[in-house]
Amino acid sequence: MQNLTILGATGSIGLSTLDVICRHPDKFNLYAVSGNTNVKAMAKICLEHKPQIAVMVEEAAACALKALVPSSVKVLSGKEALVEIAACTDVDTVMAAIVGGAGLEPTMAAAKSGKRILLANKEALVMSGELFLDEVRKSGATLLPVDSEHNAIFQALPAAVQKGGKLTDSGVHKILLTGSGGPFLTKPLNEFEAITPEMAVAHPNWDMGAKISVDSATMMNKGLEFIEARLLFNASFEQIDVIIHPQSIIHSMVSYNDGSVIAQMGQPDMRTPIAHTLAFPNRIDSGVTPLDFTQLADFSFQAPDLNRFPNLALALEASKCGQAATTILNAANEVSVAAFLSRQIGFNQIATINEGVLNKLAGESVASLDDILALDTMSRKYAATAVLEPLL
Ligand code: NAD
Ligand code: MG
Repeated sequence: MQNLTILGATGSIGLSTLDVICRHPDKFNLYAVSGNTNVKAMAKICLEHKPQIAVMVEEAAACALKALVPSSVKVLSGKEALVEIAACTDVDTVMAAIVGGAGLEPTMAAAKSGKRILLANKEALVMSGELFLDEVRKSGATLLPVDSEHNAIFQALPAAVQKGGKLTDSGVHKILLTGSGGPFLTKPLNEFEAITPEMAVAHPNWDMGAKISVDSATMMNKGLEFIEARLLFNASFEQIDVIIHPQSIIHSMVSYNDGSVIAQMGQPDMRTPIAHTLAFPNRIDSGVTPLDFTQLADFSFQAPDLNRFPNLALALEASKCGQAATTILNAANEVSVAAFLSRQIGFNQIATINEGVLNKLAGESVASLDDILALDTMSRKYAATAVLEPLL
């Protein structure tokens, strides 16, 4: 029986995780859940899944929740409570599914306390990089990737690499990181200025939270995933290729020196990678129906067009530059995407602002978590200013 904490339980990944674990009451015990402000969604989770602890980051939300749930559910508030439910000795497994840099502190706490970490929160890893991985190694924590591409790559890699071995020692030629290209893969470029938040969040294949949906539309998501893959699999820039595969059936591939290519395939449903990480090295039912290959449309593939997707180009460049650049880019992007979602800026300005902040802070370096947090704060400040008065 694994005692589980779900950080970000009210979100898309959080709800999919609850869907999988309630199919296996003999294997998973829900210890704690967290949400930000959505009291109604959290009350529903508490009534249906009966966790021991529920955390709402906002105090007012926690107070409102208390009135709606049975007294057997302990309701806590504040960021410290997130750290507590991630690091508590009663917990074996932490699903890290908070969106954005807000997830870094509790996910880091899970790493420091040696938990089994199911990592969906890619921004936390992009932001903190090797410092996060060092904590995982020091404590003996287990890190399993939930992001569908990284989970696919993990599944297609040999056990030696899964355990931290070098790609080249196992005959890996390349990692092929696939992406759908999002809703604007073929949209005329002169129509990009008129893209609304509603259009950007309507992903053709995946049903996800708003921020990652916009990132998929700009392909910043693939850029963050490139950075994430380099860190998770200790890969060089040249060892990963990004390939557009609009059908989202192949979730990524590993190409070997002997000419073999191993792909992981499945429905575009996050319950598959979630179930894989929950049960690894075993397999459990996820509720996802298997593929019926006779009913699938043709598979197609193409190289990404970096002129169409300047955010992908920025992320690839940042990955070459190193940790400071990826921290800056992640922070700027969180601010610019939030500004786009609240209609303060247009779709094209997301990339303009991200590039402006990257240029403004070029030359910064980071050596500690404090440096990273300071650079993250400064980048957000510059991006917020740029939302109001463009830097370039
Ligand atoms: P979402 O917006 O649906 O949910 C986000 C969760 O984080 C919610 O529970 C919300 O309450 C919580 N949250 C938001 N801001 C917070 C804050 N400041 N402090 C504490 N909690 C906060 O997002 P999602 O789509 O579930 O994505 C979650 C993470 O998983 C992201 O990092 C995303 O990149 C990654 N991911 C998601 C998918 C997907 O299919 N949804 C796929 C791969 C990776
Ligand atoms: Mg992904």
